[in-house]
Amino acid sequence: MDAVDPSRRREGFREVEGKAVRGARVARQHPCYGRNLIVEIETYRGCPRFVVGGCSFCIEPLYGHPEFREPEGVAREVAALYAEGVDRFRLGRQPDILCYKAIGVGEVEFPRPNLEALERLFRGVRAAAPLLKTLHIDNVNPGTIANHPRESEEALKIIVKYHTPGDVAAMGIESADPRVVRVNNLKVEPEEAMRAIEVVNRVGSERGYSGLPHILPGVNFVYGLMGETRETYEMNLEFMREVLRRGLLVRRVNLRQVMPFPGTRMWEVGDSIIRRHKALFKSHKLRMRVEVDLPMLRRLLPHWTILRDAYVEAYGKGLTYARQPGSYPMLLCCRSKLKLGEYRDFFVVDHGHRSVTVAPYPLDLNSADRRLLESLPGVGRRRAARLMAARPIRGAEGLERALGRELAEALLKVSTLGPS
Ligand code: SF4
Repeated sequence: MDAVDPSRRREGFREVEGKAVRGARVARQHPCYGRNLIVEIETYRGCPRFVVGGCSFCIEPLYGHPEFREPEGVAREVAALYAEGVDRFRLGRQPDILCYKAIGVGEVEFPRPNLEALERLFRGVRAAAPLLKTLHIDNVNPGTIANHPRESEEALKIIVKYHTPGDVAAMGIESADPRVVRVNNLKVEPEEAMRAIEVVNRVGSERGYSGLPHILPGVNFVYGLMGETRETYEMNLEFMREVLRRGLLVRRVNLRQVMPFPGTRMWEVGDSIIRRHKALFKSHKLRMRVEVDLPMLRRLLPHWTILRDAYVEAYGKGLTYARQPGSYPMLLCCRSKLKLGEYRDFFVVDHGHRSVTVAPYPLDLNSADRRLLESLPGVGRRRAARLMAARPIRGAEGLERALGRELAEALLKVSTLGPS
């Protein structure tokens, strides 16, 4: 290690390629190896919007002209990792996966998606790791979709063809206040952002085998930017209310406060706006959680939705926590104590702001403990007691007698009646 110069920056991807393959074995040393490890694979660096200076807070344009990895290099790294036992990947660390080798990079602010390059990239990854369990992406620029809706839709279809469900297109909308958009040279006006959300919904909202839709937008807002006023907070909230009114799905809403970096325009401003709006941000966050996140989660994961292959990770506060490995995984909370380190299926019984309460699927109604029974939708304390008194329940009629027909029918889809 003494021979490594920590201040040295790599020359480019050519320098990385061989090392990425030879170094793949380091994955075995990761504490999550053999459990729920996801390896992030870099596809390019630099933002195509460097030609217009980029967003006021972002350092990505400082890299200058984006540099892309070749699909073959990405595939070789994936193959090397796969040979070491890694089977979950995320193509991340890029400002916009739709702009991978896009047409017009270095000339225009919003280059056109290069469908052929995307096809080669994703097909190469799948060929290199045929039985992979997770393949997700990270960022998508809503401006690319708004400016090239047809090509973007095709590009998203390519991703859906090769990826695994539960994917998130994290979109930095940053602000729904046109003034903030203008002053900070952000990428989209609010109506363009809405169109981008609609396009991702059109391509990706169908539910996949994991129980989650194929790919949904994630929305990022940034606070503390130049031009921000009290109205900005209202506009952002109203934007998300409109998303709900239109019946659209969003996987997550991320509210961040700007972190000023040297070399960006926000560096001069610092955190002065954040400090001024500190209390406002706090109450806004709460309103977003209650008015948007909760109803969105209920729409996204209705009661009884089955979620496959969640990794049981930890205990806490009388709960067992699990997550499906992937981009921005949803936190699943189960009221019974489950063995850690296993993959299990669950079904949804309740909703928090940013998490869902689940029960193991299938649930044996003749042996499930009282807390678990009480957590089931429509059951509660009294019915759970009735259910326990009726054990062993033999067949649908017995369950109907204890709970009524409607509830019994819903329960039978997610449970079994094992010997008690
Ligand atoms: S926030 Fe995104 S679009 Fe804006 S400059 Fe950074 S990478 Fe580019």
